[in-house]
Amino acid sequence: MSMQGWEVVIGLEVHVQLKTRSKIFSGAATAYGAEANTQACAIDLGMPGVLPVLNREAVRMAARFGLAIDAEIAPRSVFARKHYFYPDLPKGYQISQYELPIVGKGHLEITLEDGSARSIGVTRAHLEEDAGKSVHEGFGKASGIDLNRAGTPLIEVVSEPEMRSAKEAVAYLKKLHSLVRYLEICDGNMQEGSFRCDANVSVRPAGSSEFGTRTETKNLNSFRFVEKAINFEIERQIDVLESGGKVVQETRLYNPDTGETRTMRSKEEANDYRYFPDPDLLPVELDAAFLDVLRAELPELPDAKAARFQSEYGLSAEDAAVLTASRELADYFEAAASRVKDAKLAANWVLSELGGYLNRDDLEITESPISSDALAGLLARIEDNTISGKIAKEVFEAMWSGEGDADTVIEARGLKQITDAGAIARIVEEVIAANAGQVEQYRAGKEKVFGFFVGQVMKATQGKANPAEVNRLLKEKLQG
Ligand code: ADP
Ligand code: MG
Repeated sequence: MSMQGWEVVIGLEVHVQLKTRSKIFSGAATAYGAEANTQACAIDLGMPGVLPVLNREAVRMAARFGLAIDAEIAPRSVFARKHYFYPDLPKGYQISQYELPIVGKGHLEITLEDGSARSIGVTRAHLEEDAGKSVHEGFGKASGIDLNRAGTPLIEVVSEPEMRSAKEAVAYLKKLHSLVRYLEICDGNMQEGSFRCDANVSVRPAGSSEFGTRTETKNLNSFRFVEKAINFEIERQIDVLESGGKVVQETRLYNPDTGETRTMRSKEEANDYRYFPDPDLLPVELDAAFLDVLRAELPELPDAKAARFQSEYGLSAEDAAVLTASRELADYFEAAASRVKDAKLAANWVLSELGGYLNRDDLEITESPISSDALAGLLARIEDNTISGKIAKEVFEAMWSGEGDADTVIEARGLKQITDAGAIARIVEEVIAANAGQVEQYRAGKEKVFGFFVGQVMKATQGKANPAEVNRLLKEKLQG
């Protein structure tokens, strides 16, 4: 399968669950995981005669998002009824926004793996209520309906069709995920459905200015699934077109077990939602003073933080981008960096050693068994030459498995570096005396043998000799 001659076009629609305590139009709780149907009140059920009351906090969060992506916030936005029939939607319509969404055009900056940056347009973000859930297990041939999620506030963030590969789409999605967590408007939990994505994909002949027919793959709840589903769609569509067929505009579902997408409904069966303004809800009017307050409350956002990490700590753009991907990771790094002389040393350890262990044990930074203070304590021992960087890795591993702080481990395992020149000189002399053959080779110009001598000295000191001192003394004494 080759993509030669084709250009890929991707636009994403992301549902971001807002972490308000109560629903968007009722006082029922939004907490995840409660017993079925214990968190749905008459309003969420759409009982006759009830009236929705807008949750101010949901509006605040949506506007906060809009400000963070540099978007126009509508001074007046309107809720609309979107009609469709589904068992998890008892009202027969979803309250959403249509013609006048709260957040207009904005943009998100993404950084790709090769370090290049792109700006992706956000078309709009609108407020809406979530639906309930159908439950297919435990009811024999029937299904159950759990309406706890009905009425949970969402923003749907719609991107421009500006992404050109699955990798770009994932970078966009990760940036959006990072941003809503920085803003503390969403918990970002993808397994629980707090952050889910529909991917619109089409292909067109390279150089063409018209878009090809797209498909929309629904409800992708992990970054990996998004990447796989998009790549599957790209290949499938190119296959169809290259064998003379036409791509059908349709909604598709991704199957994580097979890595494939399949038809869910085609355009012919598409709903006519018959949108109209909800007569039960007033338009939302936001004044400049309200937005000024929200603007002043915005935290330092990922891009600004990454720029500061580069200028303040001398980090590369790539390292700064990784360290600022989550606020927790950025805070961890800064806490460690503030306690050592060399911030880059702290960055390297957080990214490589700590990052590797967290990955291996599938832990979040907030669950790290080594605190930022403890890591700084270890780095301080590298900086004051108590241990070498290599020994520090052994100490790190011991700290990770609970053997105590750096000083405790160094003491208990006798890892203190030998810096005493006299002691190292004696060992260097012994090694030279015991390896006359190699000494001859070295003196005859075979410089590679030098590494052998370093190795022998390190072996004799269990890696504890100060490496700089070993190098200096070996050079001196091998001169003969
Ligand atoms: P709808 O409301 O029917 O889903 P929209 O026009 O609002 O349609 O588009 C939804 C998403 O699809 C947007 O993210 C948009 O960028 C994307 N999109 C539109 N046309 C294409 C296309 N030809 N290829 C890929 N994505 C597209
Ligand atoms: Mg859509």
